[in-house]
Amino acid sequence: FTTDTTKIPKYEFDEDYAPIHTYQVCRVMEQNQNNWLHTNWILTEGAQRVFIELKFTLRDCNSLPGGVGTCKETFNMYYYETNGDEDEMEDGEMRDGVGITEEEDRAMKESRYIKIDTIAADESFTELDLGDRVMKLNTEVRDLGPLNRKGFYLAFQDLGACIALVSVRVFYKRCPFLVKSLAEFPDTIPGSEASQLVEVVGRCVNNSLPLYEPPRMHCSTEGEWLVPIGKCVCQPGFEEINRSCQVCKVGFYRSLLESLACSKCPPHSVARQTGATVCSCEDGYYKIDSDPPNMACTRPPSGPRNAISNVNETSVFLEWSIPMETGGRKDVRYNILCRRVLPDGRGLEECGPNVRFLPRRSHTNYSFLLEAVNGVSELAKDHAKQYVSLNVTTNQAAPSPVSVVRKGHTGKSSIALSWAEPDRPNGIILEYEIKYFEKEQDSSYTIIKSKDTEMVVEGLKPSSVYIFQVRARTSAGYGAFSRRFEFQTSPYLYFSATTRGSVSVFTCVLRCGYSKAKQDPEEEKMHFHNGHIKFPGVRTYIDPLTYEDPNQAVHEFTQEIDVSFISIERIIGAGEFGEVCSGPLRLPGKREIQVAIKTLKAGYTEQQRRDFLWEASIMGQFNHPNIIRLEGVVTKSKPVMIITEYMENGSLDTFLKKNDGQFTVIQLVGMLRGIASGMRYLSDMGYVHRDLAARNILVNSNLVCKVSDFGLSRVLEDDPEAAYTTRGGKIPIRWTAPEAIAYRKFTSASDVWSYGIVMWEVMSYGERPYWEMSNQDVIKAVEESYRLPGPMDCPEALYHLMMDCWQRERSNRPKFDEIVCLLDKLIRNPSSLKKIMRLSLCLRVSNLLVEHASVEGDSHTRSQTVGEWLDSIKMGRYTELFMEGGYSSLETVAQMTDLRRVGVNLAGHQKKIITSIQEMRVHMNNTNSTVNI
Ligand code: AMP
Repeated sequence: FTTDTTKIPKYEFDEDYAPIHTYQVCRVMEQNQNNWLHTNWILTEGAQRVFIELKFTLRDCNSLPGGVGTCKETFNMYYYETNGDEDEMEDGEMRDGVGITEEEDRAMKESRYIKIDTIAADESFTELDLGDRVMKLNTEVRDLGPLNRKGFYLAFQDLGACIALVSVRVFYKRCPFLVKSLAEFPDTIPGSEASQLVEVVGRCVNNSLPLYEPPRMHCSTEGEWLVPIGKCVCQPGFEEINRSCQVCKVGFYRSLLESLACSKCPPHSVARQTGATVCSCEDGYYKIDSDPPNMACTRPPSGPRNAISNVNETSVFLEWSIPMETGGRKDVRYNILCRRVLPDGRGLEECGPNVRFLPRRSHTNYSFLLEAVNGVSELAKDHAKQYVSLNVTTNQAAPSPVSVVRKGHTGKSSIALSWAEPDRPNGIILEYEIKYFEKEQDSSYTIIKSKDTEMVVEGLKPSSVYIFQVRARTSAGYGAFSRRFEFQTSPYLYFSATTRGSVSVFTCVLRCGYSKAKQDPEEEKMHFHNGHIKFPGVRTYIDPLTYEDPNQAVHEFTQEIDVSFISIERIIGAGEFGEVCSGPLRLPGKREIQVAIKTLKAGYTEQQRRDFLWEASIMGQFNHPNIIRLEGVVTKSKPVMIITEYMENGSLDTFLKKNDGQFTVIQLVGMLRGIASGMRYLSDMGYVHRDLAARNILVNSNLVCKVSDFGLSRVLEDDPEAAYTTRGGKIPIRWTAPEAIAYRKFTSASDVWSYGIVMWEVMSYGERPYWEMSNQDVIKAVEESYRLPGPMDCPEALYHLMMDCWQRERSNRPKFDEIVCLLDKLIRNPSSLKKIMRLSLCLRVSNLLVEHASVEGDSHTRSQTVGEWLDSIKMGRYTELFMEGGYSSLETVAQMTDLRRVGVNLAGHQKKIITSIQEMRVHMNNTNSTVNI
């Protein structure tokens, strides 16, 4: 239906000189052009949206000589949908010879076409390009849809352009066949709308099933699969391997779609064939419907154990233990079959659902059958039932209480007990029950049983009081417990390893840059007197005795205060020479401070005045934050006074007793550090205190401890703790080093001994050292190498330091600077204080002393570390587990009761370690406990 020129394909050449067909038209010089070119009928093949790609060249009108007026640079594209090829039909119509002109026919045909678009060229060519043989090919793509018929024609309308149509490509897109997550999706043609998604339901393939919902995918107009929903998984009895479902092997099963793979059959079940969806139980084992598939097959329980009855007039209490074998289930229940024993051997009669025993109907015999059942008991018809039978007589009295319990042989960890049968057993005594607990710890107790009237209770702590009670049982049940009997185990002596404390002091000393000089403290003092000064600016103490006139010493070392600057407000204590008061001191030009005012009572002798002021002339020489500061003296008026800084919390011993248990370990160590620091200052000054004790330490409101109570002859006269020794002097025995007691060898080293006692006082919150032991006994015990035990909750590191302070050989005791250094180290590293003395070594209320091993060699095992010990028995691999379990010293290891808690699980290793621990206990004289595996 167009002019012949356009219809005839021409042979042209592309840019590579390959011959190509083109349709051309170039009637730019003529008016009113309307040239059409249409395609053959194109089948849609079901596509609703097709794409048309055009390739063409177009002549630039401006480059044409003359005919520019009518020249066009666009053409139009049309389509027309039909269900069949109209060209064939038209031929028939033509034959019918309907009288229409060719012109009319052409117009009619053109009118059926629908315009798709006007196509313009991105690039047009000129004469020049032709000469150069440059091909300016344009490519345009249009999409067309929705299409509803079987096929369509395309047509191109030229209205006077110079065009060559090189190619027309018509295509549609589709989503290709796909297998995803075991689901198959067919080759799919997209929808007609540009952004439409066509939902496609997949088919589960290869022994798979949809999980929860059928799998779906969405085909986009671009031919891409999008938005997968749901999936297929292998059906029970199969598992997915390499994207296909494979059958479960023999012995394996898969029951749930959710589980990924076939699982091994649970215990006591089997899958004899491949592809099992469940496993079947072995003979004698069962499963109920509610048991999950992965649960083992189970069986009925064995019978209840240790059943006893307890009759209270007409009620019977039955008691039993759980069966040895629960059948592998947690749902064990019990059935009790009650039967009455008919008189005269007439047999048994079921009790019925409401067993009611009438009161006072005496001595009815019952028989109880007790049976344990669980969830599978119903299924296990062939399973032999295990009953426990109990015969009970009501209105039978239980035995009367055991009246006396006696103590037999007593050891450190055991007490032998014996008792008499109850006065009224009321039947045959089947057994006795012994209940015991450590005194005041009745929240947990132990019960043991005995068939005899005696037994040895073992595994007790040494030197501890236990409460015992015994009761008897007959078939009527238990009698009442006896009253409480209190028995104590024997003490045992602890041989302390002294090396460890020294070592720790020593390492500290090295780090602090001091050497541990094994010099005589006297010698040390001499050094000071010869001008050897450790701390710059620290003067040497001058003994007021060296002054002929003691008043001169007072004058030299103290400052006179005008009494008008002082107001006495309160009496705070009593000193040897008079009252101790407190009040404000207002020195001109200085800020008002609270002071303590010691007064010398009226009627004093000159000697008393001198002794009183003696303390001031000593104190006046010191200037240290841990030594009580002298503000001055009042001597020009009466009463004579000594004015010192005011310490709000008074003396340390009273303060600690008042605040028992109130401080953290770090606070206590802080106090001890202060005292040690003050003592280091005094010893550096060459001053020996001689009466260092908690009662002579004062505490201010910031818990700062300061050393006080200076004097010389006075010290010992004044102190109520001081006792006369055989040599006639007065000495505070409990605080004093043995050499000072024995031959008045008072040195800084003897002050260190006293410091150790102060440490003990502090850590026990003001407990009296050696409790109520007499002075004579204390001297004797110390002489025999006994020492105070560690206070309750006392960190081991501190106890070792105390023990070091109590070395018999005074040159072996640490120096005050070493003590300060060690305490600083402990404060900086609080975890070093975590390790607490074991209870057996820190009995609070006890006169149990511990033996101080002075010979280092006798405790070789204890100088080892836990790691070394484990290495020595080739069990070094457990060192870390022991440390983690808190067993960081051999003492704690020796106290160990449960190896499993540490994580030693191999029987051979357990045996090896236990044997070694037992040997260790023999060494340590600690054989009272057993280790559980
Ligand atoms: P003295 O005779 O120095 O031991 O003093 C007797 C009591 O007075 C002491 O035990 C303290 O309770 C109290 N005391 C002495 N000096 C002071 C002070 N500086 N601050 C507070 N209380 C003190």
